[in-house]
This record gives sequence, structure tokens and C-alpha cells, in this order.
Amino acid sequence: MALDFQLALTESDVAQTVAAALTDEVQKSLTGTKIDRSTDPAEVVGERLATALEEAFRKAGSVDLLANVREKKQTGEPYVILFLGINGTGKTTTISKMASYLKKNSLTVVCAAGDTHRPGAIEQLTEHADRLSLKVISQRYGADPAAVGRDGILYAKAHHVDCLLIDTAGRMQTNQNLMEEMAKIVRVVRPDFKMFVADALTGNDAVSQAELFNQHVGFDGVTLTKADADARGGAALSIVYSTGKPVMFLGVGQGYDDLVPFDSKRFLGSLLQPGRGAAG
Ligand code: GDP
Repeated sequence: MALDFQLALTESDVAQTVAAALTDEVQKSLTGTKIDRSTDPAEVVGERLATALEEAFRKAGSVDLLANVREKKQTGEPYVILFLGINGTGKTTTISKMASYLKKNSLTVVCAAGDTHRPGAIEQLTEHADRLSLKVISQRYGADPAAVGRDGILYAKAHHVDCLLIDTAGRMQTNQNLMEEMAKIVRVVRPDFKMFVADALTGNDAVSQAELFNQHVGFDGVTLTKADADARGGAALSIVYSTGKPVMFLGVGQGYDDLVPFDSKRFLGSLLQPGRGAAG
């Protein structure tokens, strides 16, 4: 039964480590529980799973990013968001969407091109920013990304910009190099918020990336991209369960408006409804 249950979770795209941990947790919670004959054991397991998931999402909490930016605005200082994640997950697109979201909420935004490694990264961010009529702070390729971030802060302060969005590199020779670079940016820039960007379609990879960044750099919240193509929602569950950090936004397309706040109650409701995915 434990194996069936674990298999059902992994079939719902829940990462293997998370499926194993959840199975273990549910199994432990069932130890000593008497199930009478009139009760369907699958129903009891489903209830325990629902409890475990609700608890994981409750513990991860939620963040009102707009409220945080507005609160910082009162102090006359820019709110600094550092975006972290592996190349190709949708980091640059997410920064553009976030800029558009903040602008729509009457907040001013500037971007900093902190990926000084990947050829084309600075131009890619600048192209999006041009379309959104935003300023980008950049230096040449090979420059110290922490210095780019610092320039961004100086610009935002001097021009009374409400929010600074900093892009970062997502691929280097080794994970250790990347983690060291991210840790340095964090030390120098001291962001108000570290947003981890993960691709919902990459399953186990998204979770191991989240664990790596969380362990070495730490982050405060998650944006899951490509949720428009992800029917099962396993990545959201896996990342929340394994890192304890909230999923805050879903990327649901390639347009600037395709960023929606994540509603954990709705998500759990649809995930746990009978006949669907993990608990079905
Ligand atoms: P980066 O390397 O992490 O900066 O990734 P990009 O921002 O360049 O995105 C990689 C690809 O994913 C691009 O083709 C984006 O248009 C696409 N993309 C990003 N976010 C989403 C999303 O939420 N949904 C879909 N369908 N595509 C996305």
C-alpha cells in the first residue's frame, strides 16, 4: 500500500524524495490507527495526506509582496528583489512580468542586469525593459554582478524608484561557483526579498535546484513558471514541502500579464479532490 501510494504521488509529478517523505509521514500518522470495516482505507490515507499537505503549506506561510514594497516606499528606500534560478527556467521573463505587475499597481521599477556571464543576457533583459519603458542598469559582460546590483540601488535611491529587480546568472562551470557568486551578491546588495524561479515542468530537477539554492543562498519565496503547461501541480507541492518556502506566483504564459498570484487553498482543493492526482 505504501508503495502504491508513493507511486501515485510520483505519477502526479511529485518529486521522488518528497513522495518518499510524504509516504513516510502518512504511514507514521497511521501507526496505531484502527480502521473499522465500514471505512475505506484509501479514504483515511487521503485524509492524512490532505492534513500533511495543508500543514506544509500553512507552515510555508504567505507573503504580500505589494504590501511589503509599499511599506518600504514609506521609508524613501527602494525595495530590492533578487531573482535566483537556473538558466532557461524563465527568470528574465518573470522579472519582466513582475515589473509589469508592479507598474500596474502604481509602483515604479528599475531593473539591474546582474547576469554578466551568459552571452545575450543583458540584451534580453534590456529588450523586455524597453518594451515596458523601464530603465536597466548594466555593466559590461564579465563585470562583478554585485557591483551591478549596487549601481542599481544607487540609481533607485537617487531617482526615488520604489522597486529594484535584479537578474542573476543561472549557469556557471560548477554549482559551487554559482552559489558563491549568489552569496556574494546577497552580502553586498542585502536584498529585501530573494525570489527563486523554477520551471514547473522540470519535476525532480526543480526540487533539487530549490534545495541547492535554499541551502547555500536561501530564498524567501518562489515563482513557478510554465504552470500553463503543467496540469498536475507536483512541482508546487514538492518545493513547498522540501524547502518550507511559499510559492507566491505562477507564470502562466509568455506575455507580460501572464503572472498570477498563487492561491494555495485553491491549489490544494483541486489537487486533493477525489479522482485527481496525488490523493485520487
Ligand atoms: P531564463 O534563462 O531563466 O532567463 O529564461 P527566459 O526568461 O529566457 O525563458 C525561457 C523560455 O521560457 C522563453 O521562451 C520564455 O518565453 C518561456 N517562458 C517563461 N515563462 C513562461 C511561462 O510561464 N509559460 C510559458 N509557456 N513559457 C514561459
